[in-house]
Amino acid sequence: MTPLILWFRRDFRLDDNPMLAAATATGRPLIPLVIGDEAVLELGAAPCWRMGKAIESFDARLRGQGNRLTLRRGDALSVLRALITESGACGVWWTRLYDPQAIARDTAVKTALTAEGYEARSFEGHTMAEPWQVETGAGGYFKVYTPFFKALDKRGVDRPLPAPARIAAPETWPESERLGDWHLSAAMDRGAAVVARYARIGEATAQMRLDEFLADGIENYREGRDFPMVNAVSGLSENLTYGEISARRIWHAALALETTQPGHSGAIHFRKELAWRDYAHHLMYHTPHILNRNWRPEWQSFAWQTHDDVAETWRRGRTGEAFVDAGMRQMYVTGTMHNRLRMITASYLTKHLMLHWKIGLDWFAECLIDWDPASNAMGWQWVAGSGPDASPFFRVFNPALQAEKFDKSGDYRRNLIAELSDDPFEDARRFFDAAPRSWGLSPRDPYPAPMITLAAGRKRALAAYEAHRARP
Ligand code: FAD
Repeated sequence: MTPLILWFRRDFRLDDNPMLAAATATGRPLIPLVIGDEAVLELGAAPCWRMGKAIESFDARLRGQGNRLTLRRGDALSVLRALITESGACGVWWTRLYDPQAIARDTAVKTALTAEGYEARSFEGHTMAEPWQVETGAGGYFKVYTPFFKALDKRGVDRPLPAPARIAAPETWPESERLGDWHLSAAMDRGAAVVARYARIGEATAQMRLDEFLADGIENYREGRDFPMVNAVSGLSENLTYGEISARRIWHAALALETTQPGHSGAIHFRKELAWRDYAHHLMYHTPHILNRNWRPEWQSFAWQTHDDVAETWRRGRTGEAFVDAGMRQMYVTGTMHNRLRMITASYLTKHLMLHWKIGLDWFAECLIDWDPASNAMGWQWVAGSGPDASPFFRVFNPALQAEKFDKSGDYRRNLIAELSDDPFEDARRFFDAAPRSWGLSPRDPYPAPMITLAAGRKRALAAYEAHRARP
């Protein structure tokens, strides 16, 4: 039988992978491929490094099944055409992605390969439902989250598929590039060694993490999820980003708890949060401008500022507002940031500092190992007030009050800010190992005074908002 090429992009798993399940059912030899095109090589520093780890781990998993990844760099269509010619493959299959660049690339690939007589086929699998499968009564997309969730819940999420027992190998292996030659960790500089301690990579790790969370975490999810020092969140976002676990698998695991323990508030609440990821993809698909323009057009004329020195202080975790700085440093050290801190750091940037949310969105895209275009854009526009179903601009998070409520003991701040202690914790010291030398930071520097008082920052933001509203 002629082989089939499976083009993996963000679905690095054997379990619940509809494309892989369908491909193995054909009985054809399979050539799993990753293409180093601009969607991979031009990722931000941390997601690019983490993508490399996902690829490496998936290759090991495939090798355990007697198969392996072929790696090729170049423009997707040229790579696919060359590999089809070399291997005699009958076609290419992949799992759909929903950002506009991926849609444009995949549509061009499908059109060209189909015209040349090959089978170019795409599958679901990145989200729990396709963005067009959840619709309002009138047949449109949802501008508000709660009815979206209700519609998704009512529609139901398809059951996850088991991993295939066997992944048939081709008679001869196509030539593959070496992953090391892709230099995916180059932009991480010193940070890679630090972040590597916290990242939890690969399909087996993701499944273990889900099991741990179900056994010890989800029970307290509803009450604990806002407290950064409480172990009550799943931490599965980095695995979902690279498809090392499927959202359907997670959804059904939580649903099973609700079946055995009716009214399990942790599980219900967790499914509601998980569905925000699908909602972000739903929005990105139907309104792709959410990625780079104010979703609400009236925000185009808002007096967003762009001072780079102010932004740089925020990026380096040196604003003098300890809860904000701790969040920024957590991201630099671990590659992720607790959701409560994402909201606080984003609010501080867009409101107290009045900087454009795009500045924050771009920095998160550099630093987050769970970076996801849809969730990142939705999160930033939610906080800034310019997005759909957003928190209104006049809701200004007060980092000091937030700290009082969610980090009463001060442990989170102490854990991450070396300058606040004579004997800093390890995470706090590691920030200085990860930060670029060019920043010239030292744990012995005095901790800075706040860039702006919270009252003055809030007042300035609200005045700008009122002026904006008063414009004809
Ligand atoms: P859990 O609380 O355990 O939730 C389980 C899963 O549900 C998460 O892994 C995630 O896939 C999904 N989820 C939960 N909350 C949200 C949410 N608000 N929006 C979308 N999905 C959600 N999430 C990303 O995955 N990538 C991003 O780049 C990203 N950028 C963000 C930027 C800002 C400014 C904000 C406010 C939020 C952002 N989020 C992003 C959403 C959220 O902060 C993370 O998904 C969450 O912190 C991940 O931790 P967890 O896996 O422990 O989540």
